[in-house]
Amino acid sequence: MGAVQENNMISLKGKTAIVTGASRGIGAAAVRKLSDLGAKVFFTYKSSSDKAKLLAGETGATAIPCDQSDGENIEKTVDEIFAQTGSVDILVNNAGITKDGFLLLMPYADWNGVLDTNLNGAFRWTKCAAKKMYAKKAGTVIFVSSVSGLVGVPAQTNYAASKGALCAFARAAAAELGAKGIRVNTVCPGFIETDMTAKIPRDIARAQKERIAMKRFGKAEEVANAIAFLASDESSYITGQTLVVDGGLTGCV
Ligand code: NAP
Repeated sequence: MGAVQENNMISLKGKTAIVTGASRGIGAAAVRKLSDLGAKVFFTYKSSSDKAKLLAGETGATAIPCDQSDGENIEKTVDEIFAQTGSVDILVNNAGITKDGFLLLMPYADWNGVLDTNLNGAFRWTKCAAKKMYAKKAGTVIFVSSVSGLVGVPAQTNYAASKGALCAFARAAAAELGAKGIRVNTVCPGFIETDMTAKIPRDIARAQKERIAMKRFGKAEEVANAIAFLASDESSYITGQTLVVDGGLTGCV
């Protein structure tokens, strides 16, 4: 690699990063990217311990089983990471689930389950991590929301409510924490090739691709690149913003 290219690379050397829900998909791509850029990465998962172990072996990151609903474990995990590394510089609130269904038929459990994992979990992590950032007057938090939080998608009232709330949460937190050197931003992916979208029936996926300006689903790495930018000093004057990564799904006709 030439000297010019090397000097222009984003560097996260010396930074400690936490990525939630990263045994697979976008989270795993973020772990790879942030590790490649030099960050010391810790990531969580719920049940995919084999995949988490493989990712840890591949990247040198540390895998931690920690459910989004387990506030005590989240607090303990953040405290342990801080004790071990001396800082929490980057938090990527990525863990998320869908339980799609029509509003009139939606069981309360599906509403509450999605809200608790996607929104309340992000609150638990952000509160704990922001306390460590506050002490150092520096840090960056990235929420992985969705275009479903920006535009109406049928059969996703629970998911849309959780993702729209994350965008609002990020803006309010950015307003509150900006003076303390903590930036808070949101990434809104469109259709990305992961296990989450693998369940979409083939004919529906084909029709959705036609609606996307770039005529394809995105790759997890393309979202991870946006996350890395917002995690780095290259975005040092950006906070309270929503970066849409959707190949032109919502921005073009
Ligand atoms: P995915 O492939 O289904 O992976 C989800 C990850 O979250 C897994 O690592 C899973 O761990 C973890 N997770 C789920 N529930 C958890 C819990 N209660 N506690 C801790 N970890 C939990 O999802 P993805 O497609 O990469 O999506 C990642 C994020 O991007 C989500 O927030 C999603 O809403 C958002 N997003 C995705 C798309 C898309 O098209 N794929 C579009 C817009 C937004 P286990 O493996 O252990 O279950």
